[in-house]
Amino acid sequence: MGEYRIAVIPGDGIGPEIVGQALLVLEAVGRRFGHAFHTEKLLAGGCAIDARGECLPQETIDTCLKSDAVLLGAVGGPKWDAVPGDQRPEKALLRLRERLGLFANLRPAILHGPLKDACPLKPELVPDGLDILIVRELTGGIYFGARGRREGKYGPEAFDEEAYSVFEIQRIARVAFAAAQKRHKRLCCVDKANVLETSRLWREVLEALHPEYPDVKLEYMYVDNAAMQLVRDPGHFDVIVTNNIFGDILSDEASMVTGSIGMLPSASLSAGSLGMYEPIHGSAPDIAGRDLANPIATILSVAMLLRYSLGLEEEARSIEDAVTQVLESGARTADIAAGGPALGTREMGARILACL
Ligand code: NAD
Repeated sequence: MGEYRIAVIPGDGIGPEIVGQALLVLEAVGRRFGHAFHTEKLLAGGCAIDARGECLPQETIDTCLKSDAVLLGAVGGPKWDAVPGDQRPEKALLRLRERLGLFANLRPAILHGPLKDACPLKPELVPDGLDILIVRELTGGIYFGARGRREGKYGPEAFDEEAYSVFEIQRIARVAFAAAQKRHKRLCCVDKANVLETSRLWREVLEALHPEYPDVKLEYMYVDNAAMQLVRDPGHFDVIVTNNIFGDILSDEASMVTGSIGMLPSASLSAGSLGMYEPIHGSAPDIAGRDLANPIATILSVAMLLRYSLGLEEEARSIEDAVTQVLESGARTADIAAGGPALGTREMGARILACL
């Protein structure tokens, strides 16, 4: 029996609908396994701009910092398109990552057997049970480096700097090695070591750490080749570790291979156990408030929350098994129904609950 504090940020658009279903699932897990999950709903994103005049109120940050984990729906929408850049709803996410020290982004790309037809690749290229985990460095590299304008050889120019410290590479590499140990024990470091000095440092650091994880097979791949292999032979990969910018691009590519944006969860982890868990999709304003959204990505984010922040593996698995069971029964929301009969958000949530 455990007691846990979960900060909940429903956000905008479909956020409150999908988070609502995810919280019902969390409660059901609590009942089944005898845990008490104390949840507190917080404002961030467009709804926070409307209510408080800022996208990330201080109390949201403070409560997240005092919690065991954060569950987030999605933020943003056309209503706030005219808001100035540094106050846009999406800025709330960047600030939360920074304030919570979330340096490791874990994005599984899993193709559920019953949804094999949703994969846009030829069936013979895709193994049964395709399951890739991309571990992306989230708080360093070119997105956070020095940038600016200056006078260059050919006149005015702009620059963005990529820098990584040994410390930053070590801590993300450890997350990736540890994840590989719990999976199929294969780790692929994706980089551009034929050109970039930072990539060469990544390789040195990973080589030095490798003896601590002797059961993990480590390989390196240039990012251009990795982009190709993800659509040519996705089954090659188990865990991929990479820098911020390559991870940004490759994780979207990998999620496309699975064919449905409404199915994929993600985790952003700190050095401690605090993590933030959210679906990879956005706030889907085009379907918001109509009971059309697929809640599965958010429900699977709860499974990741239980596994990575609370260490509740069996509980996490019970949610994943319930989702698999529901998909095997043929239940589909519109985004994965391929034109066939579709359930609404609430009914899909209810079916998953029934399997718990
Ligand atoms: P989106 O992911 O919201 O939607 C893309 C398409 O996928 C839409 O057609 C949408 O209806 C569909 N879709 C997304 N999630 C779905 C679900 N669970 N079930 C069924 N269909 C689903 O991306 P977008 O349209 O580019 O962005 C909309 C807003 O979300 C923007 O304001 C954007 O900035 C924001 N956004 C937020 C996050 C986040 O909060 N992490 C991430 C991406 C985009």
